[in-house]
Amino acid sequence: MSKMVWMNGQLVPVEQASLGVFDHGLLYGDGVFEGLRQYQGRVFRLSDHLRRLYNSAKAIRLDIPLARQDISTAISATLQANKLTDCYIRLLVTRGVGALGISPATCSRPSIIIITNDIKMYPEETYRNGMAIITASTPRIAAAALSPQIKSLNYLNNIMAKWEAIDAGVPEAVMLNHLGFVCECTADNIFIVRDGQLLTPAEESGILLGITRGVVLELARAAGIPARETNLTRYDLYTADECFLTGTGAEVVPVTSVDKRSIGNGQVGPVTRQLTLAFHHYARHDEKA
Ligand code: PMP
Repeated sequence: MSKMVWMNGQLVPVEQASLGVFDHGLLYGDGVFEGLRQYQGRVFRLSDHLRRLYNSAKAIRLDIPLARQDISTAISATLQANKLTDCYIRLLVTRGVGALGISPATCSRPSIIIITNDIKMYPEETYRNGMAIITASTPRIAAAALSPQIKSLNYLNNIMAKWEAIDAGVPEAVMLNHLGFVCECTADNIFIVRDGQLLTPAEESGILLGITRGVVLELARAAGIPARETNLTRYDLYTADECFLTGTGAEVVPVTSVDKRSIGNGQVGPVTRQLTLAFHHYARHDEKA
C-alpha cells in the first residue's frame, strides 16, 4: 500500500498528493511548517508544536483555515492510515495558489499538508562516539530582518551553511549571528558544558527556540545540572568540556570536535550521556502533553 498524505481535508496516496505550480509556497517559500515526532503511538509535545505553527503563521499573516483541534485530528488520521507508531511528521501550511507576483494578497486559500516519514536519526556510531562539526562562514539571518522563530518554508540561509558542512566533510555546521555569537546549527540547537554548567545561546542570539532544547533545559534543571542561556563565542565552543546538538529528529547528539579542535578529551562526556539518556527516556515513557 502506498503511503497516505493528508492534503486539505483528504487522505490521498503520496503519488497523487500534488500542489499547484502557482502556490506561493513553491514560488516564494511563503508558508510555514513544523517537524514533529511520534513515539510509541503518541505525538511528542504536540501542543508546543501547534502553538509554534500558529505563531509562525500569525507572524506572516497567514490564516490557517483549520482549528488546532482539527489539525490534531488530521495528524491522528494520517498516522492511523499509515499504521504508524514511531515516525517523523512534517506539517506544512503554504500560502496557496495566487498570481505570479509576490503579493500574498492574491492567494485565496492556504494549503495544509501532513506527511509522515521514517525517522532520520544520525548513525548509531555518532551517538556513541560523537561527531565533528564546523562553524559556517554564512551568518544566521538577523532576527530583526526575519525572526528565527518563524519556521518558514524558506531555509536557504541554513542550506548555505549546510553546503559548507558538506564541503568540509562533516554532518553539521554551526551558524553565528551578525555579531559573531554562536546561534544554532542548520536544523538543530547547540549546547556546551563548561565546569559542570550547561550553556546554550539565548533567544537574543537569534535562534529558533527549539522544543527539544526546551525539554533538555527542563531535564537538566530537574537533575540539578545548572543551566544558563547566554551569549557564546567560537572560543567558548573550542574550549568547552562537552558539546551537543538537540532537535526533533536528532534528539541529543554529541559533538566531539569543532573546527578541528577536539572538545574536552575528544570523547562523549558524562553530562551529554546523562541528558541523552534522560531525553530518550522522557520522550518514550514520561511525556504526558
Ligand atoms: N533550529 C532550527 C533552525 C531548526 O530548523 C530546528 C528544527 N526544527 C531546530 C533548531 C530544533 O528545533 P526542535 O527541537 O523544535 O526540533
